[in-house]
Amino acid sequence: MAIPPTPIRAIVLGGGISGLLAAWHLRRRGISAEVWEASAAPGGWAQTRSWPGPAGDPGRLERGPQSLRVSTGGALDHLLRELGLDLLPSGPRGPRWLGREGRRQASPATLPGLLRAPGLRLGEKLRMLAEPFVSSTPVPDESIQAFFARRLGEGFAREVLPALVAGVLAAPPERLGLDALSHLRQLEARGGLLLGGLRLGPERTLRPAGGTGALAEILARKLGSVSLERPARTLEPLADGRWRVLGEDCSAEAEVVVVALPSGPAADLLRAAAPEAATMLEAIPRLDLQVWHSRHAMVPGWERGFGLLIHPPEGRGLLGAVSMAADDPRGAPGLLQIRTYLGGAYPVAPGLDGWPGVFRELRRWLPELPEAVQVREEPCPGAFPLLEPGHGARAARLIESLPPGLHWLGADRFGPGIPDLAAGVEAWADAVGRTSASSGSI
Ligand SMILES: Cc1cc2nc3c(=O)[nH]c(=O)nc-3n(C[C@H](O)[C@H](O)[C@H](O)COP(=O)(O)OP(=O)(O)OC[C@H]3O[C@@H](n4cnc5c(N)ncnc54)[C@H](O)[C@@H]3O)c2cc1C
Repeated sequence: MAIPPTPIRAIVLGGGISGLLAAWHLRRRGISAEVWEASAAPGGWAQTRSWPGPAGDPGRLERGPQSLRVSTGGALDHLLRELGLDLLPSGPRGPRWLGREGRRQASPATLPGLLRAPGLRLGEKLRMLAEPFVSSTPVPDESIQAFFARRLGEGFAREVLPALVAGVLAAPPERLGLDALSHLRQLEARGGLLLGGLRLGPERTLRPAGGTGALAEILARKLGSVSLERPARTLEPLADGRWRVLGEDCSAEAEVVVVALPSGPAADLLRAAAPEAATMLEAIPRLDLQVWHSRHAMVPGWERGFGLLIHPPEGRGLLGAVSMAADDPRGAPGLLQIRTYLGGAYPVAPGLDGWPGVFRELRRWLPELPEAVQVREEPCPGAFPLLEPGHGARAARLIESLPPGLHWLGADRFGPGIPDLAAGVEAWADAVGRTSASSGSI
């Protein structure tokens, strides 16, 4: 009688979105996977937390994304459909501003706002309109700054880009490579920012009912094999080629271990088993953010929420602020709920390390903002990886240096955006599925 092959068994370390998606995709390819998560909840940064209103009424805050950018037909779109997550449109959005020259101005994220952007000369505005005619041949190891200077001109890259990038990645565009925003490459491959955007199809901004954290919650529930409060402490190779993972008072063995952790804890775990990979992981900088959540009396005109990005040299470390719409079920009824963030790769000025200083600085840009009725700090140490130009080649070397059976995933590999993580983890799982089908191991 033929002995059925032993199913491949994987342990995924880290129950953030990357780890949960890794286990989800492995399962769909017939590989059983359990997840070890160090903290008491799944989701990592992508968690929705309870924050009751001033009268004790229910309210929540988002630790990470407040909404998800979903491209029709992309990996995240497929996943959300498959999970059957209840999704709400982000709704009509309120004003978007750029803080520049000491006051707020119309956001340059729209064409009229872009053409009115301060600091741009007429020739620089006309240069932006020539973007569809710029060659779409990619330039290796380009920084985000060089990419935009090439496509939209030096004026845009100098005057507008720094605030847009600081608001999303908390770092200057000259220090970041395209791996930090990998959809820019896809756009260029399809003809550029404008033509590529048209060809890639519409993007929607969606929020799961119940908050962005619902994505991790539903993945964890459907997987059913996510162990919380189970930090991995040590990784040991076994004589038969498998791996042993040791926790605080538990251990498990598996054919495959997927390390879906931020670079620091990933390096600690891999130091003995894969020292070269650990050294390369340590070299990926992580940026700390100061994040403040605050609730205020509603300001007329801001009922649909707002977004403010600040030109970094003027922000003194304050990168921006974003508010939820007044009818957002996550907020406290009748109040304006704002998230303000500082730091990342930018030095925070003295006096901005506590709410009174942060509020004074916010009021410089939002003079109408009344005193907060509730404030909560959510520190975000190591929130974002700083993926420098040339990151792709370094990541490829890191992956090559891993011994058989060890895999590495996460924001340090694919970039911090959830859509990029979804696409990256799916492509990784496809490759793993092909290897396991042809060789029986991965
Ligand atoms: C303030 C903020 C705003 C953001 N806004 C957006 C946005 O608008 N749009 C967007 O797309 N993205 C946004 N992001 C980025 C996005 O949330 C993250 O990049 C993404 O969630 C990272 O997922 P991950 O699984 O790779 O890592 P993480 O979320 O860091 O998950 C790693 C997990 O590993 C666990 N862990 C650590 N050590 C161990 C161990 N030894 N053993 C077991 N488990 C361990 C941690 O507890 C954690 O749960 C934002 C992030 C922040 C912080």
